Amino acid sequence: MKAEPQNAVGLVLRLSQLAESDMLVDLFTSEKGRITALAKGGKRSRKRFFGLLLTGHLLEIELLPSKKGGSLWLLAGARIMQNHLGLREDFRRFMASGPVLEILLRGTPAMDPMPQVLELAKATLARLSLAKGKAQTGSALVVFLTRLLALLGYRLHLSSCLVCGRPIKHNRECRLSLAGGHVCPHCRDNRFGVIVPAGLAKGLETAANLEVNALNRLSFSKAHLNPAMTFLTRFWQETLGHDLPSLGLALRLLTRETWD
Ligand SMILES: [Zn+2]
Repeated sequence: MKAEPQNAVGLVLRLSQLAESDMLVDLFTSEKGRITALAKGGKRSRKRFFGLLLTGHLLEIELLPSKKGGSLWLLAGARIMQNHLGLREDFRRFMASGPVLEILLRGTPAMDPMPQVLELAKATLARLSLAKGKAQTGSALVVFLTRLLALLGYRLHLSSCLVCGRPIKHNRECRLSLAGGHVCPHCRDNRFGVIVPAGLAKGLETAANLEVNALNRLSFSKAHLNPAMTFLTRFWQETLGHDLPSLGLALRLLTRETWD
């Protein structure tokens, strides 16, 4: 019996060229979570997928189970839903979108549907596609990095001290630790910590909790972006045990003095 194609909506995370113009496509889908699909080469397929298989594209796809099973599928068809064209119109937006795709690729399990994660990624890429200047671009990424921690079960502890439970004082500088959140001055630990300005912890807490449609209105000032990106980059690298090169590049871009 011939299998019927299954429909899904998927964000293209990575493309790898194989022999004979076949291509492996890593996607994050709402129905199946992260999957890999084989796009068969040949003239007809090239025409069918022309201009569709690009990172950051949101596609409506048709999948057939592959003989190998598991998380490998055959890509039977694709249609564009959102090309996030604005990302390709400005290299800084494009660089800031890199960590969104990279972290979904490295940090989510295969074949585990997480529709809220896809919603967050879509909202972030839509915001980045239109972002102007460092504050808007950086805010979109800081919100994504903070919210995704919460969605994947690594929520930062920001309301009180991780160690002693003393409430955080929002009028004072505080320290964010790689242990996973705020550590008060009495309990200073030796693990990597970033001193952050008053108010940033509250902003990050909002990013972790706000309704997803409202996230795009949340902005961080330039003074908050630098420490927020420094901490979040280290925390993600530590959490995933991976150096996350796209995130490292975005950090360098966003903490560069010459861009406002
Ligand atoms: Zn403490």
